[in-house]
Amino acid sequence: MLREYQEQYANTNEQFVFVNKIGVVLESDNVLFKIAKDSSIFDFHLFFESLESLFDGNEEEETKFHCIHIYIDSDLYIVDILAVVKRAGVLLIIKNLTDHYNSYQTITQTRNESVIKTELTVLKNLELQERERFKNSFIQNFSHELRNPLMSIMAISELLADTKMSNEQLQMLKFLKESNMNLRLMLEDTLSIGMIDAGRLEIEKKLFGLQRFFEFIQFTYTAKAKNKGLKFVCSWDGKIPEFVEGDRLRLFQIVTNLLDNALKYTEAGTITFEVQLNQKRANKASVQFRVTDTGLGISLENKEAIFESFFREDASENIKGTGLGLTIAKRLLELMGSKIQLTSELGKGSDFYFDVLFKYPLLSSIEAIPRKNSQEAFIGSLGKEQRKFKILLVEDDEYVQTTLFKILLNTNRFKIDLAYDGALVFQEVVSNNYDLILMDANLPNVDGIQITKLIRDFPFKNIKDIPIIGITANAYQENIDQCLNAGMRKVLIKPFEKEELLKAIAKALK
Ligand code: ADP
Repeated sequence: MLREYQEQYANTNEQFVFVNKIGVVLESDNVLFKIAKDSSIFDFHLFFESLESLFDGNEEEETKFHCIHIYIDSDLYIVDILAVVKRAGVLLIIKNLTDHYNSYQTITQTRNESVIKTELTVLKNLELQERERFKNSFIQNFSHELRNPLMSIMAISELLADTKMSNEQLQMLKFLKESNMNLRLMLEDTLSIGMIDAGRLEIEKKLFGLQRFFEFIQFTYTAKAKNKGLKFVCSWDGKIPEFVEGDRLRLFQIVTNLLDNALKYTEAGTITFEVQLNQKRANKASVQFRVTDTGLGISLENKEAIFESFFREDASENIKGTGLGLTIAKRLLELMGSKIQLTSELGKGSDFYFDVLFKYPLLSSIEAIPRKNSQEAFIGSLGKEQRKFKILLVEDDEYVQTTLFKILLNTNRFKIDLAYDGALVFQEVVSNNYDLILMDANLPNVDGIQITKLIRDFPFKNIKDIPIIGITANAYQENIDQCLNAGMRKVLIKPFEKEELLKAIAKALK
């Protein structure tokens, strides 16, 4: 019984052929191919011609051939062939391994494909990383370039404030300063976009004047709307606390994005900005902000999509935009635990609104909040001593250098030397007795960080310990850490205000 089965299965894949020394077929079991007796094996398939030289080999000599492709009537057989030299001829054992080789090939192919796929994914990731790097370095360079001119504008506004001005000029200067401030905040925002993407942006909880915020928006947008021939209606709910704890910068960004859109997408009619109290409870106030317009409106099917990055309802229209404003507004509100809401009708107008929950302090604690210190406060903080402090100001940007110089000079408490090149600083420091160095971190030749390290390593105490305040246009944390690690006491990020500078100097000189 078993023998029967063995015969049935054992031979199905193997053909035995015996040929004489000149290749004539003496016997074949024809399990796979029909090879006629007395025919020449060389005629059966070209491959066998290559065996001719073996036929004169020594008896019992075995040669094995793998993966031979044999086509019979357009059917492909992939076989291994064992040739054994015998006394009377050559025994050929042909083993059909077509399935085996085919599946092997499939496995190899699949493996190759998966290797290629992995390599493609790696390449794609590299490309994404490269793009991310480009975006970050673009934002970094861009904000870097803006910082110096903005610093000059801010500093000159400060200097103007110290001159004699009419009430009207003072009022204009006040708004000029606030606009500078907002420009500065925008600059920080540009840097923050990357951080929102990376989920690393934190919402501040600092005390600020919400009513003042409202008045500033009212002043700015009344002018903007008037320019476009639109009416701007504002309303402030008197029950809202004047001061609240929150993120003024982010709130400003959200509200101005909505108002800018309302102006952009409205040709005639009215823009409304309303700030209403929802409720006050346990030192917390829920406030609703609402921006309404009588403009183009938004179609129902795009009500969700307009909050996605780069989505513009009609990109072909003649209105400029990036398609990022609403995305930022939405994401910032999410971080504040709020949600932007929209009702709109195409052709009639739009109504965007959101609620923010603010903590607010008791009135008595607000009075205790130090007002921004004035120049007098600064002078007071330097003590009664009337000697002038000697400062070395190292800054390569001519405009920034001049404005900082004037600010310091106006206090009448400093003697100031100027340097613009890192290489000259050391010489100055050794030959003068400075009380303080104010130094740009990124100077030509030898940079401020290197100089700080050199000074800190100096053997004489009077030089080694000179307080150094860094100023930089690079707001990235790594740069600030490098400055502090090198031994700077404080790093001021351009553009900074006069008060910030004077405060830092007073602290360093104590
Ligand atoms: P941008 O205004 O730069 O295109 P936004 O993200 O601020 O980008 O807005 C996305 C899209 O939403 C706009 O392109 C516009 O089609 C639509 N949109 C936003 N605000 C309004 C509005 N007040 N009225 C009509 N359409 C608006």
